[in-house]
Amino acid sequence: MPVRDEAARIAGDIAELRHAIHREPEIGLDLPKTQQKVIAALDGLPLEVSTGRGLSSVTAVLRGGGAGNSGGPVVLLRGDMDALPVTEETQLPYASAIPGAMHACGHDLHTAMLAGAARLLSARRADLPGSVVFMFQPGEEGCAGARQMISEGVLEAAGERPVAAYGLHVTSSRLPGGVFSTRGGPMLAAADQITVTVHGRGGHAATPHRAADPIAVACEMVTALQTLVTRKFDVFDPVVVTVGSFHAGTADNVIPEQASFWATARSFSRESRSALAELVPRLIGDIARAHGLTAETDYAAGYPVTVNDPAEARFATETIAAVFGAERGETAGFPITGAEDFSFVLEQVPGVFVMLGACPPGEDPEAAPTNHSTVAVFDDTVLADGATLYAELALRRLALA
Ligand SMILES: [Zn+2]
Ligand SMILES: [Zn+2]
Repeated sequence: MPVRDEAARIAGDIAELRHAIHREPEIGLDLPKTQQKVIAALDGLPLEVSTGRGLSSVTAVLRGGGAGNSGGPVVLLRGDMDALPVTEETQLPYASAIPGAMHACGHDLHTAMLAGAARLLSARRADLPGSVVFMFQPGEEGCAGARQMISEGVLEAAGERPVAAYGLHVTSSRLPGGVFSTRGGPMLAAADQITVTVHGRGGHAATPHRAADPIAVACEMVTALQTLVTRKFDVFDPVVVTVGSFHAGTADNVIPEQASFWATARSFSRESRSALAELVPRLIGDIARAHGLTAETDYAAGYPVTVNDPAEARFATETIAAVFGAERGETAGFPITGAEDFSFVLEQVPGVFVMLGACPPGEDPEAAPTNHSTVAVFDDTVLADGATLYAELALRRLALA
């Protein structure tokens, strides 16, 4: 039976697991209940299952019987498992029962689809010409769980390093339900954090010449950052700098001692990213000095650019067309300005990250609430196809290797 038909047959079980995870969301690196649900879902399958030390990850290895003594090549499939600190307002029958936690980014679907793929591939173990590593990862949302799983050895879980790695991500908006989207090259942005503190000298607001006003200087920095973006970076290798938080002062008639702001910096190439890390602190320091003040800039590296290997992107596009029909696949014209810690895996293993539209049938994807919204809805109808794609990518890639 084709993988897709078998996935349709187990779609009810995949949805049931997804709903159980959705009802009981957990945030960050420690997801003990989600981990238990995954282990229970994998129970009875011919897998080597291990759990993380510093985080509640699950790594499962399926060793195929069709590779002879060599063990054959290895492919890694990744699904993230963590929720967001958001209170759900969807009114769905399986909505979060925990105030302040919601699977608003659809990671519950990824976890259930990956467990479904483990079942589909386990049924084909005898003929599988290699091994599959299933990477169930906590802490995608800001905690760099993927990096931690790499340092705990997920890339060596099957002995040999994977020849390819695949990640899937659902989106509640933008893409029509059931449409897969990917591209070769940059797929998602690098996201770094800039923290600036401007040190002035406080005083009376009526005599600014006797003080050193950090607010006016910090404001100049905010606008200069936008000029930096347009004057120092190639428009075809774009960057985004947004100051999202700005704090200073306590009263209209007092000049404060200091002003501070935070910004996010997004980029799509190593070159632009390292240019930002060099140019931003220099600009901030120079502006402060020009006014006789001092400033500190903390430029903290977040997630790197998620770069799809061009050959793997072609392979994924061909696989989508072969399994679902060409109309179900889209080549994304542009990268997405969000960020992903699957980027840490793709820095070490060639692979591809694929988006999957999960907008409910009948809803306009352009108008639907986005991922991270308290009312974002991801439809169950995509679960079987997501599990199918994971399994087909592994099967077809191992056959190629
Ligand atoms: Zn997210
Ligand atoms: Zn996400």
